Order: sequence, then structure tokens, then C-alpha cells
Amino acid sequence: MIRCSITGSLPKPAWLAEPGKLWPEWRAEAASLVDAKRDATLLWLKLQEDAGLDIVTDGEQSRQHFVHGFLAQVEGIDFVNKVRMGIRNNRYDAMVPQVYAPPRLVGRVHAAEAQLCRAHTRKTLKFTLPGPMTLVDTVADRYFGDRVALAMAFADLLNVEARALVADGVDVIQFDEPAFNVYLDEAADWGVAALHRAQEGLACTTCVHICYGYGIQANNDWKKTLGDEWRQYEKLFPMLAKSRLDQISLECAGSRVPASLLGLLAGKDVLVGVIDVANERVETPEEIVATLALAQEFVARDKLIACTNCGMAPMSDALARAKLEALGRGVALAG
Ligand code: ZN
Repeated sequence: MIRCSITGSLPKPAWLAEPGKLWPEWRAEAASLVDAKRDATLLWLKLQEDAGLDIVTDGEQSRQHFVHGFLAQVEGIDFVNKVRMGIRNNRYDAMVPQVYAPPRLVGRVHAAEAQLCRAHTRKTLKFTLPGPMTLVDTVADRYFGDRVALAMAFADLLNVEARALVADGVDVIQFDEPAFNVYLDEAADWGVAALHRAQEGLACTTCVHICYGYGIQANNDWKKTLGDEWRQYEKLFPMLAKSRLDQISLECAGSRVPASLLGLLAGKDVLVGVIDVANERVETPEEIVATLALAQEFVARDKLIACTNCGMAPMSDALARAKLEALGRGVALAG
């Protein structure tokens, strides 16, 4: 059987947070919020197992946003006075916190949810963290004035938390680096070096996820400007093939990424997106089989892991459940 996973995030139930938003407000407080996060995590863990996934995640139920969730436990970041800033090369505006001093962890970031998941599943447990470049691109820097210096400072903090996650029983650490697809030259100049610093000494499988973003309007509009063939990966994959990362997670289904580019990742596990997160149509098992067959022209079957194109956080709960089930059915049909 081809192995099967998701990128990472899943929608938060309406009793936990506002649905349909990338930066949702929590709908519970204090001890009730702790309980609600726990229950949502266990629910999605069960649904992932029932769908037949081999590699499961916490669905990122305990963090407001995939980048800012990590920064919530970092000193030197001002979350009270957020500012509006264009991110991903000004593709869209976000309210971002400001870096005003050297960042320092004030304690564990994800201990509770990692330990909870480990206690409740025997499946391979993957945990997602934002990559250093994507962190840099989602804050307003008022201290360093140097993206590389800030990235390396973040990489050191990621490494500390990642080592602790491995001690919690996490099997795979995945760094999410959608910014790589935007800043191709910087990815080559220092992005991979920052990832190496974040993964230094980790006694687990390591992965990097690079995509064309969540299924939000700004991303869908951006994709329309990228032409008939999206060739960003052509520049990134050769250096990732040479990197110390074990797995590469990429967007494929419903995209204009030429499948032949997957051939540039020889030697790596390749998490191929067979579920499009940017539309509301649920893939048929046959479509998933077809995407996997195409991928197998360039990736050995034992190196292939069926996955989603990106996180499913902003979509409806019902749609995410349907796509999760479709993923499992498609992989089962592929045999
Ligand atoms: Zn993504």
C-alpha cells in the first residue's frame, strides 16, 4: 500500500473557534479553551485513523495560525500591537506581530498537544512547525533589520522545540515553508541553511512542505498569474534533493505543476498532494489513483506518500471530513 497523510492543519470545530478563517478567534476561554482544544484534537485524530491515514497530525487545533501559534511562546514578539503588512511578497495583507528584541522561548510551545496525540494513537505522528523563512515573512521586524539574522534566530528556537517534540514521541517534524515558492533566490541563498539549523540533531524523520498556499482568494488570484506551467519547484527541488531533509511535501492535484519536476527529488520521500484544498469539490477515488499513477512515473512507489496539497484549516468542517475520507478511499483503490 502507498502510505497516506495530510499536510497538517484541519478546520477547527465551531465550538472551538470561528469557522472559515485563517486567523479565527477562539470561542472558549481559560480552562474551557484547554478542554475544547483537547477534544477537537482527539476528534480529528480519530477521523484521520478511520480514514485510513498512516501518518497523523494534531490538525493544528491548538494554535490560532500555523505561524503565529509558534510565536505565542516567544519573548521579544509584541502581539498586543500588531500591524498590517503585506506578506508573501505583498500577495495579501495580514495583521502581524512585531519583533522588538532577540526572540527567546519562554517555555514549551506544543507539549500538551504532542503528548496528547502520542497517548492516543499508535500511528506515525507528524508534527508541523513553521519554517524559518516563513516565520520571518509573517512578522514585522523592528529589531534585526536583516532577514537572515532573524531567520537563524528563529531556527535556533525551532530546533529547541523540535527536539522536545521528539522527546514527546513525535516521529516526523515537518517545517512549513510556503515562502520558499515566493522567494526562490533567498531559498537558495539561506533558506535551506536555516532549515538545516532548525533540524540539527533531530532524531526523527524531517520534512519540508512547500506549496502555493491555502485555498484563499488572494492565493487563487496569484496562481492565475503564474502561467500555464508552474515551474517554481524546478529551482527548489534540486537543492532540496541535496539537503539533509528526508521528505518533501508538495502541491500536485489540480495544479499546473509539471509532474516531471517530481523526478528532481531522487532519494527523498515525496508527499504528493492528491487533494486540492482550493476548491469545494471532493476528489473521486479514481482521480486520486490517476494522480498517484502520474507521480509514480517519477517517484518510486515506496518513496511515495499520498497527501493533501496544503492544510485544510480554512475550509468547512464537512468538506474537510469528506476530503479526508476521499483521500483514504483513493489510496485504498490504488492498492
Ligand atoms: Zn501549504
